[in-house]
Amino acid sequence: MFSFYAALALLSQPWYWFIPQNIDGLMRIILHAWPSSVPCPPVPKFSIPLKILGTTSTPFAIKSGGHTANQGFSSTSGVQIALSRFNAVMYDQASNTATIGAGLTWDEVYPKLEPFGVTVTGGRISGVGVGGFTLGGGYSWISNRHGLAIDSVVAFELVLPDGEITMVTANSNPELSFALKGGYNNFGIVTNFVFKTFPMGPVWGGLLTYTGANIGPVVQAIADFSANNIDADANLVAASIHSPWLYTRILFLAIPRTNGRCEDPGAMHSVSLSALSVSVISQILNQTDRLGQLLRAAMIRRIPTTTSSRLWHFSGSDSTAREDMKLAAAAITAAAQREGQQLADLPLYSNYALADVPLHRLYTANLPRLRRIKMKYDPLNIMGLAGGFRF
Ligand SMILES: Cc1cc2nc3c(=O)[nH]c(=O)nc-3n(C[C@H](O)[C@H](O)[C@H](O)COP(=O)(O)OP(=O)(O)OC[C@H]3O[C@@H](n4cnc5c(N)ncnc54)[C@H](O)[C@@H]3O)c2cc1C
Repeated sequence: MFSFYAALALLSQPWYWFIPQNIDGLMRIILHAWPSSVPCPPVPKFSIPLKILGTTSTPFAIKSGGHTANQGFSSTSGVQIALSRFNAVMYDQASNTATIGAGLTWDEVYPKLEPFGVTVTGGRISGVGVGGFTLGGGYSWISNRHGLAIDSVVAFELVLPDGEITMVTANSNPELSFALKGGYNNFGIVTNFVFKTFPMGPVWGGLLTYTGANIGPVVQAIADFSANNIDADANLVAASIHSPWLYTRILFLAIPRTNGRCEDPGAMHSVSLSALSVSVISQILNQTDRLGQLLRAAMIRRIPTTTSSRLWHFSGSDSTAREDMKLAAAAITAAAQREGQQLADLPLYSNYALADVPLHRLYTANLPRLRRIKMKYDPLNIMGLAGGFRF
């Protein structure tokens, strides 16, 4: 049940879990969310569950993979709508498309497509959900060749805020088709995506880990790859980790056990660059060490009082940790700008952005258009009761 990436999300415990069986099942939420003191309205064929939540001003959240690190985006103290039963994958050879349930994680999708020798522009790491990843853009291992995940979605099955169920394509509804490309839950709940598929045979890949002492040539190799690679099938994701043994050991021992994949309190933030040079990578390494030391200090200060539940007070440091991440992002951006990179107009990637990043940094010139579309399809701002980047 729990698959939230950051333990922070679990601090928002829902008072009700709703796991619809299918698209019509979404209507049943009316019966649960409607206050017992008020007579329940008749349920129309195409239900109005979101409208009911809106009428009762019940906060709710929509969870696909639960991998956002932003508290309250797919978690809530109200009604939790878990899409886990939208879990079918149907491949159609004639149209080279796959219909994929919005509640799946990508590691559940790939094995279902593999027998057909095809794949889709899905996530790169286990546990990431189809819904949030795709509606926020989606960087895949095959994005250099085929674009973002959202670029290869040809249709969305969408429950609109007024309860109508609609198939959105670029032809049937160009406005919503545009808006869903980055619009998350602002326009309703997507229950299924129809993706283009691409042929895929065996791939070569793996994980290499280098320690600090050997890092110089590695930094140079990453910069060379970034500057010179012209093979659209070649990918490299470089991650720097500050991980002294003591810190990881304590973290491991202290995290409370849960039923699912809940990890430590976490946050993600985003920097947009036009090149990964040696000096920019060096700044990333500096900032990794700086943040690592800060977090380590914060953890160790709390360890003497250790019990599992005490450790949750670590969330008191969340805002400090987030501010430190912003400082790190600013330092990396400044390093890139010093060498002439023009970054001022580049949008930040919303799937990696902190919750309080201003919307214009994510959506830039598209924001006014997105707000107009939002007004048209959700004039009562029912989706505003759910968390996330709100238009
Ligand atoms: C370990 C890790 C690895 C990652 N790797 C990548 C990567 O390789 N490439 C990349 O681009 N990103 C990556 N991300 C970022 C990831 O794309 C985002 O965290 C994304 O939001 C996760 O999607 P989800 O469905 O799991 O999230 P959720 O937490 O379930 O949802 C995120 C947001 O989307 C909304 N939402 C979800 N499903 C729907 C739906 N069906 N209809 C309407 N709204 C919906 C939710 O309400 C919420 O606001 C990674 C994140 C982590 C933690």
